[in-house]
Amino acid sequence: MLSPDKYIKNYIDGKLVPADSGAYFDNVNPATGKVYAHIPDSEASDVQKAYEAAERAFPLWSGMTTEKRYRILSRLADIIEQYTEPLARAESIDSGKPFSLASTVDIPRSQANFRFFATAITHFSSESHHVPGEAINFTLRQPVGVVGCISPWNLPLYLFSWKIAPALATGNCVVAKPSEVTPMTAYLLSKACMEAGLPAGVLNIVHGYGQKAGQAIVEHPKIKAVSFTGGTSTGKRIAATAAPMFKKLSLELGGKNPNLIFADCDFEKTMVTTLKSSFSNNGQICLCGSRIYIERSIYEKFRDEFVKRTQFLKVGDPFSAVTDLGALSSQAHKEKVQSYLQLAEVEGGTILCGGTEVEVPGEYEGGAFLRPAVIEGLSNNCRTNQEEIFGPVVTLQPFDTEEEAIALANDIDYGLAATVWTQDISRAHRVAEKLQSGIVWVNCWMLRDLRTPFGGVKNSGVGREGGLEALRFFTEAKNVCVKY
Ligand code: NAD
Repeated sequence: MLSPDKYIKNYIDGKLVPADSGAYFDNVNPATGKVYAHIPDSEASDVQKAYEAAERAFPLWSGMTTEKRYRILSRLADIIEQYTEPLARAESIDSGKPFSLASTVDIPRSQANFRFFATAITHFSSESHHVPGEAINFTLRQPVGVVGCISPWNLPLYLFSWKIAPALATGNCVVAKPSEVTPMTAYLLSKACMEAGLPAGVLNIVHGYGQKAGQAIVEHPKIKAVSFTGGTSTGKRIAATAAPMFKKLSLELGGKNPNLIFADCDFEKTMVTTLKSSFSNNGQICLCGSRIYIERSIYEKFRDEFVKRTQFLKVGDPFSAVTDLGALSSQAHKEKVQSYLQLAEVEGGTILCGGTEVEVPGEYEGGAFLRPAVIEGLSNNCRTNQEEIFGPVVTLQPFDTEEEAIALANDIDYGLAATVWTQDISRAHRVAEKLQSGIVWVNCWMLRDLRTPFGGVKNSGVGREGGLEALRFFTEAKNVCVKY
């Protein structure tokens, strides 16, 4: 049974164990503001034990047929699917997000990650290069060994499994650390692994703070690859540690994504989806659009309708079916978002709606609730428009020409995702080609195909996840040249 416990445990060598120090820190439900569980405060010695277990498990796991690995990983997917309800409940309590979102997006996608990579490995093949009459080269794709996976709090099990699944499918053993802000579903994943019959040591989950447990994974001399999703400044620090050790690195970092809305768009579809791309999960999705550029001829019409619909969004009880936005991930994060709202006003912006705290009576009185905010009147180069807020805050800006829209969208250090709204197919292609972004959605948002490359350019990251990109990241290519 995948039920949460008050004291979360590490999962090392197939067993649930406390941190070496025996120390715990608090896990807070952001919707109530109350401590409801305790997280092991792991350190380098716990990571070392996890590494040793992974190293011991590696010959068995990497030597297993892909058919057997496929079976175990798809059993794990089945178990996650079977426990969608308790997992979604745990995710909602841990992160403040609506249960409806966790049960329709987070947990189904976590299950899909394991299922996708379980089957992907059975179709994975490598290349050969023939020199006629002389030699044949063929490429072996071998697992890297013991790898590290570190994930953030915004899509907890979704992003944790997005890394772990391809790492395991390719035959690696893993030392993983979920965010200390939202560790509960990673803990439940440990239980699911035990139920699925994953051999001991293949996956090890170490809980704790980033600067202690996370840093110990990155610094470990024998952990040869690190897949990290999180903030850009953390990514910079990880790169500085790992690069001189010549580790393979995949860094999925922050974003400040533009939405380009042309006058010829399908207005209703654009409106409905832009509300989602702005405020789903409280804007705490790295793919959310937060800079909305609107062609001047429809600027006022779009602004007025967008503000009206934003004001209708329901903020509050994450377990109510009518809630659109639950709590932000923590009080500290809410305060960070609020500080940007104050900054926006100092920078000359007008808050058209939202930004105010929401008092939800009863159980949720101490929760981190905020009304979604829409701002206009800011310059493109002010801090509010250049820095990642990662909350329910968007800015609106008008543009006059296609060239100007592209220039405004690209005038930033980030480059993760962008959306383009137009009915002109030629314009859609032209703009998509020129946007400096790892992902461009035309007339849609968050339409995900797990085979596609996923990642950002500029300060949004290095490398790509998804499909073959992930299978390649978690394997070393070895060329064998045979002369005949
Ligand atoms: P964060 O960088 O604070 O933490 C991410 C993870 O790294 C956590 O598990 C944390 O404990 C760990 N960590 C922190 N310091 C570390 C260190 N020195 N060494 C190793 N690990 C360390 O990010 P967050 O606040 O949890 O998440 C929000 C950020 O994640 C936002 O910037 C968001 O854009 C980004 N994000 C990016 C993507 C993407 O795909 N590009 C997806 C989701 C979130």
